[in-house]
Amino acid sequence: MNPKIVVNLKKLETNLRFLTDKIKAHDLSIMAITKVHCADPQMIQVFEQVTDIEYFGDSRLENLKSYQDSAKKKALIRIVMPSEVTDTVRYADLSFHSELKTLQLINEAAEKQNKIHGVLLMFDLGDLREGFFEEESLLQAADEVLAMSHVNLVGLGTNLMCYGGVIPSEENLARLVALKEQIESKHGIALEMISGGNSSSLHLLEDDQQQVPEGITNLRIGEAYLLGRETAFQGDIVGTYQDVFTLEVEIVELKEKPSYPIGQLGPDAFGNKPVFEDKGIRLRGVLAIGRQDVDITNIYPLDTSLEIVGASSDHLIVDFTDADGDYKVGDVVAFNVEYGALLSAFTSKYVTKAYRRE
Ligand SMILES: *Cc1c(COP(=O)(O)O)cnc(C)c1O
Repeated sequence: MNPKIVVNLKKLETNLRFLTDKIKAHDLSIMAITKVHCADPQMIQVFEQVTDIEYFGDSRLENLKSYQDSAKKKALIRIVMPSEVTDTVRYADLSFHSELKTLQLINEAAEKQNKIHGVLLMFDLGDLREGFFEEESLLQAADEVLAMSHVNLVGLGTNLMCYGGVIPSEENLARLVALKEQIESKHGIALEMISGGNSSSLHLLEDDQQQVPEGITNLRIGEAYLLGRETAFQGDIVGTYQDVFTLEVEIVELKEKPSYPIGQLGPDAFGNKPVFEDKGIRLRGVLAIGRQDVDITNIYPLDTSLEIVGASSDHLIVDFTDADGDYKVGDVVAFNVEYGALLSAFTSKYVTKAYRRE
């Protein structure tokens, strides 16, 4: 069934092995983040075989539940909802926190289930998404967590380049390490995990000027595994594939039409007033995919002689006038996908998932 997102599992495996080896060479543990592909079971099987990936992380409990039998440790990486503490303790070994109130609820839930639950305190280094913001409030939370009976303080974490676009550096990550050292010396303990960010921290492994500071022990990797790219400077990672995924869409109409609409112009279906350039008569294709299926601003035809000119909920309009190939109704057009398109395509029930093994 079209449209489909096609996953090349062989290329995925190459990306996983190549990048895992690279990160392990820096003595960092790895949490593979499975949210973008909604913990797709076929893909999870490939991840499962890479034993150097020690943890699976996801922002949604449904996904952690789906691989409960995995040998890897499981982490809930979105700040826990107070309403999900019971299932968090049940399905995750580890969860991420920035609110004492929720930590107290986690402790109670763990006590009821007769478990010790691992927690990581998130610290906000300036990206202004999640995390304790004042050092003092983080240190105080650590004191309180260490006094709790059914919670184990596994470590600290930070997240960058998700809201504010702040780039991970040796300097900002050093603040996280300094906090770890304060907690360790005050309490005479050793913290197991200091998680220094996501795919946007990978550039530090290559940089001549700066490094991942000593004391950072873990990275959480989603996009780089899937799209073969570090995300701070959008550099392709040599040795990995950028085309693990392709989106295949079918042509349902192909006709010559004017490029400028006829009649009085009002807003489109999304309340925007589109602007049109009159290029005369063009060969226009209507493809059976739309905004209900995928983020159409984030897909790119492999055949670069094609041009996307617009989309509605369920139709994509493509200009075929300058096409090199000979297209007809029923043909499939393939697209490269970026992060946002990948996320929406996997989440959409209207996009079939298909797999290639060579
Ligand atoms: C999504 C997410 C990640 C993974 O980010 P990538 O840029 O895809 O590597 C890591 N940590 C947290 C907390 C996340 O929400």
